[in-house]
Amino acid sequence: MGEPISADVLVVGSGASGLAAALSAERAGARVALAAKASLQSCNSAKAQGGIQAAFGADDSPEQHAEDVWRSSHETANMELVRVLTSEAPGTIHWLEGHGVEFTRSNGGYRLARCGGSSRERLLQVGDRTGLAITSALRGAVEASSALTLPKSPLAELGQTRGGWRARCGEHLVEAGAVVLAAGGRCYREAEERGELTTNHPGATGEVTQIALLLGAEARDLDALQYHPNGGAWPETMQGYSIPETTRAYGAVLLNAEREEFTDSLGPRDVVSQAIFDEVEQGRGVESPDGRPAVWLDTTRISPDDAAVSLPYMLRRYRAGGIDPLAEPILTYPVLHYQNGGLTTDEHGETTVEGLFACGEIAGGTHGRNRMMGNSLLECCVFGRRTGKAAAERAKG
Ligand SMILES: Cc1cc2nc3c(=O)[nH]c(=O)nc-3n(C[C@H](O)[C@H](O)[C@H](O)COP(=O)(O)OP(=O)(O)OC[C@H]3O[C@@H](n4cnc5c(N)ncnc54)[C@H](O)[C@@H]3O)c2cc1C
Repeated sequence: MGEPISADVLVVGSGASGLAAALSAERAGARVALAAKASLQSCNSAKAQGGIQAAFGADDSPEQHAEDVWRSSHETANMELVRVLTSEAPGTIHWLEGHGVEFTRSNGGYRLARCGGSSRERLLQVGDRTGLAITSALRGAVEASSALTLPKSPLAELGQTRGGWRARCGEHLVEAGAVVLAAGGRCYREAEERGELTTNHPGATGEVTQIALLLGAEARDLDALQYHPNGGAWPETMQGYSIPETTRAYGAVLLNAEREEFTDSLGPRDVVSQAIFDEVEQGRGVESPDGRPAVWLDTTRISPDDAAVSLPYMLRRYRAGGIDPLAEPILTYPVLHYQNGGLTTDEHGETTVEGLFACGEIAGGTHGRNRMMGNSLLECCVFGRRTGKAAAERAKG
């Protein structure tokens, strides 16, 4: 281990939240170091397909968006954070466009879909690779900035010093005035321990949350893990794949073994997942060819035009596995997907430990105990930007 690296702000994580935080800290004049566990590309953010919410519809508003979050969270979200999330959403979309993200458009405006738990069409998309488009654009901006990137440098130790923080990230020692934890959730590890499938990337193991808790940071709703209602159940190559919720936004419905609808396919995620668990439990599910529990998702109801614009990646992957979702229904079952809760933060991303910040999936409060789809990428960008700026200001005293 050589000389310590000196930075104003150390960002831990290279998903959408870490990249947004690094960019905004750098723009605020901070010397930034960004450490990631593996390559900079390896994160859940890059896997996100469905989209990102923002109130652009003529019948919509940030207040309506906030109301939908409150209801979907079963009235457990921190409304101060929610109001920041929804009021800064449209501006954040324009910020992303400024970095080169091109959202899918139709009829002169954004192509907006209605996602589960939402009362309006509010989901912007980049085809069905929205997360890839956002992370590629932000990563390009970070790499073109003065920020120092440290891939393959997992945070293993973090301690306070007189002037700030000292961190061991892989081979590197980093000294920084403020630290932003943007290391995502823990559903990969949790699924391994439960012997279940997950949509998450292998780096989603949660040790950074443990480091923060040991430093005295408070957390909320850590027990509230979210199942994605529509994990792929068959073919084998699609097991653990999260079938985009936009399939249901564009007309697909859930059916039991009798081919009957048994729930509102566009209900909040936890409600839809529970309805599938119950249907299978009560003997009205179907079995995948390798004996896994499942129900049908009738994707044949999606119009080919909508599918071509909004689901090209999903169609390609299923067709490569020998199933055409526009010609036959597909098998689905809930999979572990998202950590709803996390470290407690204020509206500038500061945890309950001074100088220690958190944003993205590692933070709790914005979604309460049940997140709506499309609000995580939004949270990463809205709070990543705020947190990076606040950390830069804190570091520079
Ligand atoms: C398949 C899939 C589809 C999804 N679709 C959507 C969607 O359509 N819309 C939406 O809003 N949300 C979606 N989500 C959720 C959303 O993508 C994630 O919750 C969000 O992107 C998390 O971003 P993040 O920056 O907090 O963490 P991540 O993107 O997971 O990044 C975490 C980063 O932390 C790093 N890290 C972890 N541990 C350490 C360590 N010890 N030291 C250093 N670095 C570490 C990782 O290497 C990684 O760089 C989806 C998630 C998945 C998995």
